[in-house]
Amino acid sequence: MRWASAPSPRHQLVLFPTSLDESIPANHPLRQLDVLLDSIDWTSWENNYSNEHCGQPAIHPKFMSGCILYGLLKGIRSSRKLEDACCNRIDFMWFVENRKIDHATFAKFRQQHGDAIKDLFRQVNQAALKLRQSGFIELATDGTKIRANASRQKIYTEEFFSSRLDELDRKFSEAMKELEETDVIENPELATKEEIYRKLNSINREKQLCQNALKKAEELSQKRKRKAGAFAKPGKTSLTDSDSQLMPNKEGGFAPNYTPAVTVDKESGLILYADIVEGHAEADCVVPAMKEITANYCKKPVNVSMDSHVASGENLLQLEKDGINTFTKLRNQTSEIAKRPDLSEPVKKEDWDKLPKAGGKRPQLHRSAFIYDEKNDCYWCPAGKQLKPEKKNAKAWMGSNKSKSIALYICKSCSECEFKDTCMPRKKTKRGRTITRDEYENCREKVLQRMDTQEGKEIYKRRMHIVETIFGYLKGVLGIRQFLYRGMEKVKNEWSWMCLAYNVRKIIYSGQPV
Ligand code: SF4
Repeated sequence: MRWASAPSPRHQLVLFPTSLDESIPANHPLRQLDVLLDSIDWTSWENNYSNEHCGQPAIHPKFMSGCILYGLLKGIRSSRKLEDACCNRIDFMWFVENRKIDHATFAKFRQQHGDAIKDLFRQVNQAALKLRQSGFIELATDGTKIRANASRQKIYTEEFFSSRLDELDRKFSEAMKELEETDVIENPELATKEEIYRKLNSINREKQLCQNALKKAEELSQKRKRKAGAFAKPGKTSLTDSDSQLMPNKEGGFAPNYTPAVTVDKESGLILYADIVEGHAEADCVVPAMKEITANYCKKPVNVSMDSHVASGENLLQLEKDGINTFTKLRNQTSEIAKRPDLSEPVKKEDWDKLPKAGGKRPQLHRSAFIYDEKNDCYWCPAGKQLKPEKKNAKAWMGSNKSKSIALYICKSCSECEFKDTCMPRKKTKRGRTITRDEYENCREKVLQRMDTQEGKEIYKRRMHIVETIFGYLKGVLGIRQFLYRGMEKVKNEWSWMCLAYNVRKIIYSGQPV
């Protein structure tokens, strides 16, 4: 058997390139990153540094940011691994010009510049948009779940946190007594003062965690009580990271998670907005995203597609007011069977079984079987009877101190109707079948009309591809399945770095000169 010989045996003299620059090929993407970061205005970052000349001179944010972004693209996330790469990897050494950067400096840098990173995000996107002209014709927005840096075993109810706090108080008093005793008599069998101080510090740290988690668990329980009443289950929170929430995992089971959300431009493929929302509240970031995008890039989005659970009435109304076309799948679509040329004519008897129904054991006709007549401001039921508005501008509470204005449309002909048992089998009151119409229904109908067109269907179909590709790349290729930091603010910063790295990749691997 013949084996390949080593090109350079260990004792043989070899000639390495005489400068770092010679080691990096002219078309290396890192050179593109260097040019891109040179074009950034770093004033907002530089203002965060103190001008006092004490200690070691600071390392410029260009090198720190570049290392973090390039590291993310190469699957290097931890600060210690970045420190190691800056000492041993020729590409990192070239980029930082052989500076030695400590892991603590990387860790601090990532957490400290929350506002400045938004500015960098905007500037990088503006540079990318110069390369790829985009009119923001089609945006897509969505969220995903990424695990928090917290154990799924350390999730407790408020009852646990209260009893743990009592126990910690007791332990604290005992440690204080011990400290007093060591002050009076010197006994080698007792713990030393340093040991007791360490114990007190650890108790205080745990107390702080418990207090934060207790507050969150109480808030969660109250929310659940408002929704489900007295039988609601108590809220559970993670002791390690109380800002995360117990949610179903993409891989199965439950764990503390965060919900990152993004808004992406279809034409350029860039992430234009990135944020972390609390729990499942992805709907809360749709309108702020559109406002931020319009302000940052001086262009108003034309079309935006989103998941149905994000398309709340408030979002649809606001986007309609802002002149942005929404594309989403709404549940309350009008039944095709209920549609007929003359609404005062009843639906054919043989078609009644095909009308949509909703409810448990005794389902009643779904509201999509009732057709709204805008001209006469009434609903037409499948029996060809009118439901006229009885109460207008009534208030309905939606939870979280929010309310919406509703109108009740009531049918007066139900008592003589032969389909009464199919239409409302559960109804025991004398009032006829009632349909509630809220203030957002007009917007929903506009969206439904838009979704009825071929263009609407295609735009909505593309949504999944636009956004899910990004989540797939971040999770599958860059290996981002869990956050490294704990706490909402730090996790938001970490997510911004990840999304920025994705955008940077789009530029430096595009092959176009920056
Ligand atoms: S019960 Fe009333 S609302 Fe229902 S189909 Fe009959 S008339 Fe119409």
